[in-house]
Amino acid sequence: MKAMVLKKIWSFKENKNPLELVNLPDPLPEEKEILVKVSACGVCHTELDEIEGRTPPPRFPVVPGHEVVGRVEKTGSKANKFKIGERVGIAWIYSACGRCEFCLKGNENLCSNFRATGRDANGGYAQYTVVLEDFAYKIPDLFSDSQAAPLLCAGAIGYRSLRLTGIKDSKNLGLTGFGASAHLVLKMVKHKYPNSKVFVFARSEKERDFAKELGAVWAGETEEESPEKLDCVIDTTPAWKPIVEALKNLKSGGRLVINAIRKEEVSKEYLLKLDYSAHLWLEKEIKSVANVTRRDVSEFLNLAAKIPIKPEIQEFTLEEANKALLELKERKIRGAKVLRIGD
Ligand SMILES: [Zn+2]
Ligand SMILES: [Zn+2]
Repeated sequence: MKAMVLKKIWSFKENKNPLELVNLPDPLPEEKEILVKVSACGVCHTELDEIEGRTPPPRFPVVPGHEVVGRVEKTGSKANKFKIGERVGIAWIYSACGRCEFCLKGNENLCSNFRATGRDANGGYAQYTVVLEDFAYKIPDLFSDSQAAPLLCAGAIGYRSLRLTGIKDSKNLGLTGFGASAHLVLKMVKHKYPNSKVFVFARSEKERDFAKELGAVWAGETEEESPEKLDCVIDTTPAWKPIVEALKNLKSGGRLVINAIRKEEVSKEYLLKLDYSAHLWLEKEIKSVANVTRRDVSEFLNLAAKIPIKPEIQEFTLEEANKALLELKERKIRGAKVLRIGD
């Protein structure tokens, strides 16, 4: 099969084409696994973190990609949840131990044996991939393959982030950074919390216009003061400045949820601007969001079908994966980038 693989850690400064197109043997499903013929795979900011070594894959070469949509090609001898030809999705959670205190309480995202698709196991930047049947999801018919892909990560993690903010209807939500995940969060809020106002902070004017098109009541620069204080903010940026600036806009007792697997080192000195009385005092909280559970993914897919949320997408071929990643790196973003993978 054709696959785009990562053979070592790279910085985009030294190599603008970190993934290589190779031919790999088709994978075979183990007993409880399914073989999936991939048709679409979303391109996520986390791939940049893997490539640049902020969350490095434990083994190379690895096939990245954790927003995978395809059809069941073959089932393992003990796999019986899906039929051949059935459309399935695979998300960031590739597996978890199922036995630890976190797994037993439904917090499998915190399992110390959490394995991520496309980092700890081969993912969807390829024509085929395998996964345990219990970690694959049925995709609602409403979505095309490319539309479904970004729902599996950006959407599911956005759903989890929104849940962790503790938002209630009519409360003000801030979104700092306006990429794939944030734009889906905005659509969710419009449906679930129709009386809540959403304020968006983004560096690029394009992103701010896009946010207003989608129903944000206000959009400004990262460091601007929002016209109203915010009950909660979700940060989806790789930088530190938005954290300090978001804390400034929080109401007393407000909560900032950081939806980022890793932060980049650049701009870290901005943290020195953190002023206890302006940014943290009055019981402001900071919480990070880590990974996703299967429950997040399935609940979000159902919600997305009900609303319905159809993500804005931009398609690339498998061979154009490096181009898509570079654009993401350079924040040329309008909706979610998806690789279309054919024969
Ligand atoms: Zn992702
Ligand atoms: Zn566990």
